[in-house]
Amino acid sequence: MAGIRGGSDHLIVIGAGPVGLAAALLTAAHGPVTLYEAADEIVLSEENSYPIGVNLRGQEALRRIDPALLARLTEQGEMIAAWNIYAGRRRVAHLISGNVIGTTRAFLTRILLDAATADPRITLVTGHRLIGLNTTSRQLTFRRPGGEEATVDASGARVLAADGVWSAARRSLVDQVPGFTPTVDDWGVQFRVLFSPPDASAAGLDPAEHHIFTDKGIYTATLDGGVWGVSLTAVRGAADEELLTSTDASDTHVAALQRHLQTYAPKVVPLLDADAYRAFFGRAAFSGAVVRCPFVHVGEWLVLLGDAAHSVIPPTGEGVNSGLEDCCVLADHLDSGSATPLTDYNAARLPDLAALGEYAWQLMENTRTTDPARRATTIILRILATIASRLGGPPTVEERLFGAHAGRDPYREVFADWIAQRERLHSPIHRVARLFVRGREARVTPSE
Ligand SMILES: Cc1cc2nc3c(=O)[nH]c(=O)nc-3n(C[C@H](O)[C@H](O)[C@H](O)COP(=O)(O)OP(=O)(O)OC[C@H]3O[C@@H](n4cnc5c(N)ncnc54)[C@H](O)[C@@H]3O)c2cc1C
Repeated sequence: MAGIRGGSDHLIVIGAGPVGLAAALLTAAHGPVTLYEAADEIVLSEENSYPIGVNLRGQEALRRIDPALLARLTEQGEMIAAWNIYAGRRRVAHLISGNVIGTTRAFLTRILLDAATADPRITLVTGHRLIGLNTTSRQLTFRRPGGEEATVDASGARVLAADGVWSAARRSLVDQVPGFTPTVDDWGVQFRVLFSPPDASAAGLDPAEHHIFTDKGIYTATLDGGVWGVSLTAVRGAADEELLTSTDASDTHVAALQRHLQTYAPKVVPLLDADAYRAFFGRAAFSGAVVRCPFVHVGEWLVLLGDAAHSVIPPTGEGVNSGLEDCCVLADHLDSGSATPLTDYNAARLPDLAALGEYAWQLMENTRTTDPARRATTIILRILATIASRLGGPPTVEERLFGAHAGRDPYREVFADWIAQRERLHSPIHRVARLFVRGREARVTPSE
């Protein structure tokens, strides 16, 4: 077991994902940063990544690190003019945007990684997977690729843990910190992406817009070079789960995948060729969980950031954006000169993370449900909120997150109307939808 000692004003960041890299860059003014990453080599391939939207929160974090980073993202990314949401073949919502930049996680991470490796204040140490930490001795234990363990004395350092949704730091705290009982709800779905050939097009699909086919969670995003990313959702236990998670690119599977698109998102089919379908079966499938923590710091020693603290689910569009915003809020508290910046950060950030977590949890339930009454309830609530907004009521939550009313308002404000509407209307509408669905099923299958 090797021993390494951390210095007294040292910052230690765990995880070189987008949030860990941004955290290193935004806090390096407060002391040298050592950034530990599990992977031996950080491989950022577009093809094994997935499309993401960087909204005004994420853009602000990049601008704060260095305006050149935001310029690089703007140059490579695609500004999303609007979202179209379909239920069946009908478009049920058209959400004007113009403020979210479409890219991939790989490209966003690349921009941040290039900045971090060029920054002399930051030392990147790869091949170090955190396997545990001790809150009393304040030691971190890592596993090296050969299996060897290394301990780091972090007693004089501040630790920023950004090791993702399955965070080892978070798991270690559960047994050691009284009252730390995070909720980790597996999404129950996986996401996997088809990529079109360059400059693909399809009648009725405007490349300046993104298209969401809610029946089966199919999402199209336009990427650099006229490539379309078509993200598919495999719901655990659904009849098509096996196909959508298979690694076998047989002719039967290719044909079945094409039928899946033809049935649930026919507009998308002209974008894709046989190679695109075949390559799908060799790509990674992404799983995750909605994570909600009762607090996100251990005194002034450690703080959880990004997915480690509050993973959401892709349809929120807030995963990386909320994590990048964490880094800005934390940097503000470190800059404030307070003697208790991590405690202050926790108090300021927690109500926003709680509101975001509630929204994400509901979206997760909607995404993984196979209950038609629940799906109908969601659509009706969305339509009612849209009508109310058109009639001069509050903007919908989607408009406030990534539509014309998007900004950087605290999440607790963004979700306040949505939470109130749900509390008032969800149960009565769901009751009516259930009766309607049962009535329709009875008509289709008359009892003998
Ligand atoms: C299909 C899909 C679509 C998405 N779309 C969007 C979107 O449109 N908008 C949006 O905002 N978000 C989106 N997200 C979410 C977004 O990708 C995540 O929120 C974001 O990547 C979280 O960043 P992070 O740095 O906290 O964690 P991660 O990206 O998971 O990075 C964690 C890093 O820590 C390293 N690590 C893990 N464990 C250890 C360990 N034990 N020791 C050391 N290092 C470790 C990992 O190797 C990795 O480098 C999407 C996610 C998916 C799956």
